[in-house]
Amino acid sequence: MIKTCQNFINGKWTPPSSGKYYEIRNPADKDEIIGQFPLSEIQDVDQAVLAASKAFLAWSKLLPMERAAYVEKFTTLLDEKTNYLGECLCREQGKPLVEAIGEPSRGVKECKYVIGEATRLQGLSLPSERQGVTNTVVREPVGVIAAITPWNFPMLTPLRKTIPALIAGCTVVLKPSYDTPWCSVLLLELFEKAGFPAGTVNLIMGRGSQIGDALSGNPLVRGITFTGSTIIGRQINKTAAANFAKVQLEMGGKNPAIVWDYANITGAAKSIAVAAFANAGQRCTAVSRVLVKRSQAEELEKALIAIIKEYKVGPGLEKENTIGPVVNKKAGDSIMEYIAKAREQGATIAIGGNQLKGGVYDKGYYIESTLVTNVTPDMAVAREEIFGPVLTVQKVDSFDEALEVANSSEYGLASCIFTDTQANIYRFMKESQSGMVHINHGSVSESFMPFGGIKMSGLGPFSIGATNKDFFMNTKVIYNQYI
Ligand code: NAD
Repeated sequence: MIKTCQNFINGKWTPPSSGKYYEIRNPADKDEIIGQFPLSEIQDVDQAVLAASKAFLAWSKLLPMERAAYVEKFTTLLDEKTNYLGECLCREQGKPLVEAIGEPSRGVKECKYVIGEATRLQGLSLPSERQGVTNTVVREPVGVIAAITPWNFPMLTPLRKTIPALIAGCTVVLKPSYDTPWCSVLLLELFEKAGFPAGTVNLIMGRGSQIGDALSGNPLVRGITFTGSTIIGRQINKTAAANFAKVQLEMGGKNPAIVWDYANITGAAKSIAVAAFANAGQRCTAVSRVLVKRSQAEELEKALIAIIKEYKVGPGLEKENTIGPVVNKKAGDSIMEYIAKAREQGATIAIGGNQLKGGVYDKGYYIESTLVTNVTPDMAVAREEIFGPVLTVQKVDSFDEALEVANSSEYGLASCIFTDTQANIYRFMKESQSGMVHINHGSVSESFMPFGGIKMSGLGPFSIGATNKDFFMNTKVIYNQYI
């Protein structure tokens, strides 16, 4: 029997006012229906925001440690279910099981850090210019937060937004991606079980194009934390500006890895391949272009090809598979168009480049991990975010050229360098135009380190770790004259 999921509004599972639902299927097996999910309308959004706004009055007055107690209960439940949640995630989004279980597991780590933040919501105390006066700066919760999330990390991203918002004293309306709502339903079941007061966390599902503006433009929403494409981020930024709502925008990337005078080419290739092909390349921080010293290019390309040959592409639930399907046909077609364009523009497909067909492959959209060589910086494949298992290699003749090409992107999310030279490391740390710089390893983040980008990749305080407080809390200044 096919399950039908509902929105979660004011502590109750609530059908959409349209009475309409849509179907989600397993990207690894289009015959498997995951469930039916609400096609919400503007009035459902308004109802959820109103519930969050009413709940804010009491939730924001709790002591931070009292709020942390709810999150602790939630985290225990999450921790107990990581294997089950990972399996569901794999069925909904497609990534291999190990990576899928990694999401709730990483979520537990991030939750634990954020629970500790309840004791660190500190402000400032400054000396006054006057006798008998104390001057303090305190933090206060922003209010209702709209959390808008993409499909590529359907469990971690909602957690990364809702948990720090709740600890800070905000209430939340979560709108997950149209393509991966089930993971959010599963999280809301845990919030319900943990006993959060009605209205503190709400869930609205449906098409971003139908309900997104109503959510980010609702005047009761005081902050919008968004992860997704730059094009939608720009739209949200405009909508939020009309109400002077705060924004935390995490957007696209075209992340470079420079390889320059590095002895361990095999090691560099291993790190780059993980960073490029995990989650079938559908990561905002995926390394998607390598800029290599001409004299090291051949060795590096050979090493990358050898690694790619070992990949096993297939359904993520089967443990031997290391690369799953891409999320849907639309994404797959777009990736294949980029590969075709690279061919047309004169690049070489060194390995891969095909959609896999026949047998199990006909049940989903599977693309070979692809290495594109002889790339020049003007090619679409070298400039635009592909969001699939495609890595380009471009040869460069000087370190200055490598830096210039790395920085020539409109994006500025993550960047990597592999080099044994201290002077190059120093220059890269200083000159790389990105929010996150990785030296001698791939673009893999950690659970307490701030996460975000610059240029077209990010706006507002970084998420994860200590910087989240700057987004979810406002500043209040208090002058107190005692005598
Ligand atoms: P998307 O921008 O299409 O959708 C993201 C979310 O925005 C979805 O929930 C969608 O329904 C919603 N949305 C759509 N229109 C809206 C509107 N008008 N108003 C409000 N919300 C609206 O992105 P996607 O395809 O789900 O995800 C892939 C993109 O996300 C890639 O560009 C990737 O780089 C980016 N991403 C960035 C990060 C990061 O941390 N920087 C992390 C993961 C993914």
